[in-house]
Amino acid sequence: MKTAIFPGSFDPITKGHKDIAIKASLLFDKVYVAIGDNSDKKNMFSKEQRLAWLRLVFANYTNIECIIYSGLTIEFCKKHNINYIVRGLRSINDYENEKNIAYTNKSLYPSIETVFLLCDSSYSHISSSVVKEIIQLNGCVKNFIPEEITF
Ligand code: ADP
Repeated sequence: MKTAIFPGSFDPITKGHKDIAIKASLLFDKVYVAIGDNSDKKNMFSKEQRLAWLRLVFANYTNIECIIYSGLTIEFCKKHNINYIVRGLRSINDYENEKNIAYTNKSLYPSIETVFLLCDSSYSHISSSVVKEIIQLNGCVKNFIPEEITF
């Protein structure tokens, strides 16, 4: 059984995240879409709210499980027999950053492989940070977030 984790902040989930998670669900037997701790980021929405949205968006995907975890991603992977980490790439900046995280995870846990996926090109400019900025300025974010979510 091939199990993967797609970790992120999902603050909030965007159409780009949804696309990556669905692509992963077609490649792996089981995918955890997992809200982790990212100390670099100040979040706008509570973990519980973000989890509720993830569960709504993936309600009909039987091999996707949405969860919150704490601590290192690789420790969660060891505990749950997960051998693949899925991350999305939007740009060369994402690549440089993600490459370092992937090598670090590999050195901490050699059984882990990081798999990078591209979202559809129409979503490649979307980021949670931009969505948050638009929300703060009372703009409309409906083109950027999954249709299951309403504000
Ligand atoms: P993190 O705080 O771990 O960066 P994010 O929720 O911002 O979490 O992103 C989670 C993952 O989703 C990252 O791998 C990020 O590159 C990817 N991602 C975010 N938006 C998109 C998008 N529009 N297209 C492809 N991948 C994306």
